[in-house]
Amino acid sequence: MYTFTFHRFQHSNKFFWRTHEAHHSGKEVDFLAGSRSHVVEIIINQTIEFAPIILLGADPAVMPIKALLDAMFGMFIHANINVKMGKLKYIFNSPELHLWHHANYLEVFHANFATKFSVWDYLFGTAYFPEHKPGNERENWGLYYDYPNDYFLQHAFSIKRFDEKKLLKYPWFRKYYYLRPNILKFFGKLFSRKKIGKAEVEKELV
Ligand SMILES: [Zn+2]
Ligand SMILES: [Zn+2]
Repeated sequence: MYTFTFHRFQHSNKFFWRTHEAHHSGKEVDFLAGSRSHVVEIIINQTIEFAPIILLGADPAVMPIKALLDAMFGMFIHANINVKMGKLKYIFNSPELHLWHHANYLEVFHANFATKFSVWDYLFGTAYFPEHKPGNERENWGLYYDYPNDYFLQHAFSIKRFDEKKLLKYPWFRKYYYLRPNILKFFGKLFSRKKIGKAEVEKELV
C-alpha cells in the first residue's frame, strides 16, 4: 500500500519522477530490470518496506526472509515470461500487468503502480490490462526522451538535465564517457589473448 502510494506519487510529481525515471529507462525489460533504480529511490523504498517491521519489533529473521521475497517478486513481475494469472491477477501483481507499466505508451504512464498486490490498482482504478501485449520493438519500451546510459550520468541527469551528445565536444567529458567501455574493451582483449595463448601452448605440447 505504501509502496503503491509512493510509486504513484513518483509518477505524478516532477521532482520525485527524477528518482524513478531510471527504473523506466530500460529499452529491454527482463527479470533484472527490477534492480535498475536511482539511489534515492532505493533508500526511500527500502525505508518504507523495512522501517515498520523494525519499529514493530519483529523477529530479526523476518528481515532476510522479506528481503528474499521482495527480490524474488521483483524478478517475477519484470520477467519476460508468458504468465497467465487468471482471476488471481486481481490480487497479485504479475508480468502481465507490470510489463505494461514499463511500456512507452502515454495511456499506461499512470497505470499499474502495484509492486506485489495488484488489488490496489483495481481498487483505485489504475489497472491497465488490454488483450494485447506491449510489443517487441525497442521503441515499445522505456522512456520517450533521451536518457544517459552511464550509471553516474543518470544520477547527474536527475539533478540537472543535459544532452550527453553535446557534452562530447569537451575532452574531459569524452575521457570519462569512454572510460568504462575502454576498460571493458581492454579486459576483453586481455582475456581473449590469454585464451589464444593457452590454446597455442596446448597445440605445441601435442
Ligand atoms: Zn513506475
Ligand atoms: Zn518495474
